[in-house]
Formats: sequence, structure tokens, C-alpha cells
Amino acid sequence: MTAGGLGEFGRIRCFFAPLAGPGGLGLTDDAALFDCEPGRRLVVTADAIVAGIHYLPDDPPDLVARKLLRVNLSDLAAMGARPRHYLLTTALPETIDDAWVARFAAGLAEDQRRFGVDLLGGDSVATSGPAVLSLTAIGDVAAGAEIRRRGAQPGDRVWVSGTIGDAGLGLAVLKGEYEALPAEHRAALSGRYRLPEPRTALGPRLAGIAHAMIDVSDGLLADLGHICAASQVAATVAAALLPLSPAAAAAIAAAPEMRAKLAGAGDDYELLFTAPAAMDPAIVRVGADLGLALTAIGTIEAGEGVRLVDPAGRPIAVKSPGYRHF
Ligand SMILES: [Mg+2]
Repeated sequence: MTAGGLGEFGRIRCFFAPLAGPGGLGLTDDAALFDCEPGRRLVVTADAIVAGIHYLPDDPPDLVARKLLRVNLSDLAAMGARPRHYLLTTALPETIDDAWVARFAAGLAEDQRRFGVDLLGGDSVATSGPAVLSLTAIGDVAAGAEIRRRGAQPGDRVWVSGTIGDAGLGLAVLKGEYEALPAEHRAALSGRYRLPEPRTALGPRLAGIAHAMIDVSDGLLADLGHICAASQVAATVAAALLPLSPAAAAAIAAAPEMRAKLAGAGDDYELLFTAPAAMDPAIVRVGADLGLALTAIGTIEAGEGVRLVDPAGRPIAVKSPGYRHF
């Protein structure tokens, strides 16, 4: 396979077998085995990324690995699930050497420890095209406690964790924009783009509290639109209430109209959820327990669509509510 390299089996043995948990059987069997505790359901999600499209071929391989794992863990969190295991399939061109794979696996090892997941198996193939990396994450949730997109009800408040717009601004920073911004702000923003923080502790804590939930990957307004469409309701978001980091606030200080644009920026991987007002105290308690900002930014109403409004309640025109896949 790779001239002078370890080859497929060597790479599996050296780099991936050490990542396998008990269910992965050392990656020596045909398939993995794992149990699901009685009364719990498995939650499964997959994401694939392509070199040159979702990441740059010269991005640090450990960061590529960690982001790939984290975006999947974010999808589990958005269902209220706790992460358990994952499967990994790689299609790599000859130009990817063993050193790259070693660093990729080291990134996975670091985040496995951090998030309490292990590798069950997968596949590795050669390709004549760009590298394709596909990860399937498996979590579990108490049966019936899963939080879907479709449960939002008129009268619910709309909440979001953390801060919004950092990743979108971080991508702009990486492309050479916002050069006048202080270095620590630029680093904070680009860091949020390169390495999102999936809200794995928050998601399961919202069982019995949130009516509907999604993670912010396409853009806050677009993702809220997915909740509204699935729930057959409308939503209004107050632009002034969007939680911004100090770095994001500094970045848009000279252009307040950018606030609306941040509501359409993707890749933040925060959790966006709706809950009845009676749950306000419970939500505040969860936020305090986790040391994580949870901010009410709007309301769910009868009807359809998502509106962003100014402090006077006037609709703000939004050019792009979020990323469109096609
Ligand atoms: Mg998602």
C-alpha cells in the first residue's frame, strides 16, 4: 500500500487499536459488541467531512479528528443523549502519510478521554480522490427522555447555550479578515471555529425540561427554523438578546448591523431549545450547575417561520438565515 509505510493493517494496529474500548475487541473481530442498559435507547448519528471542502488539507490532523468527533457528539447532545462509542471510516489518498494518521489518532485519543467515548470499529480504504473521513457516534438516553425537534409549543421560550457567532467570525479571521482585532480576540474566535465545544453535559440535563432541541450547526435562525418546521410553530428572536462573547462583541462593535448576520452564522455547536416559562428556574439551575450561560432569546408562537426583531419589535431583514446544504 503506502511505500515504506505501515499499510492498512499496520495503521490499524499501531494507531487505531489502542483507541478501541472493550466492545471494539481490539479491532480484531469482524464486528463490535456492546450492551444497552435496560430502559435506555441507543441514539446514533453520522457525519462525513472531505478534505478541501470541510477542512483544509494542511489543517492540523489532531484538530481535524477532534472536530469530526465533536460535531457528532453535539448531535447526540441535541437529542439529550450521553455519548458512548463511535465508528470511524477513512478514505485516504496516498499523499497522507503515517505521521498524519498518528497525529489524527492522537487527537481522537485526547477527546476520547475528555468525553468518555471509545472506538468500536470502522473501515479504512484507499482513494484516488481527496481524503474523506466519516464518523458514526453512538449514545444512549433513558427511553422516552429523548428530546426531538418537533416538541416546541406556542408560549415556549427559546433558549440558547454559550455564545453565538464566534465560529462564523472565527472562519472570517482565518480567511484574513478582522486584522485590526486584538490578537487574543482573534485567537478566541478562530479557536471556536477550529474546535467546537459540544454541550454533552447540558443535553441530558434538559430531559423533562426542554420541549424541543437542536444544535446550532447551520446557523441559529436556520436551526430554529428546523425546530419550527418540525413542530409546526413560529418563533420570534430578539436580536438584542443574542449572547455574544467579548471577542464577538469587539469584532462587531463598529458594525452593530452585524448582529443579524451572526444570527445566521453556523458552526457554533451550541444547543438551541424551547421550554415552557414554568421551567425558567430549572433552566437557571442547570446553567449554574454547569457553569454555562443559558440565555432566553425569544418565544414560540402559533404560525410558521422565524423572525428576528429589533428592540422596538420591528422585523430585521436577514439575508441569510444560515448555511444551505444545496
Ligand atoms: Mg445537528
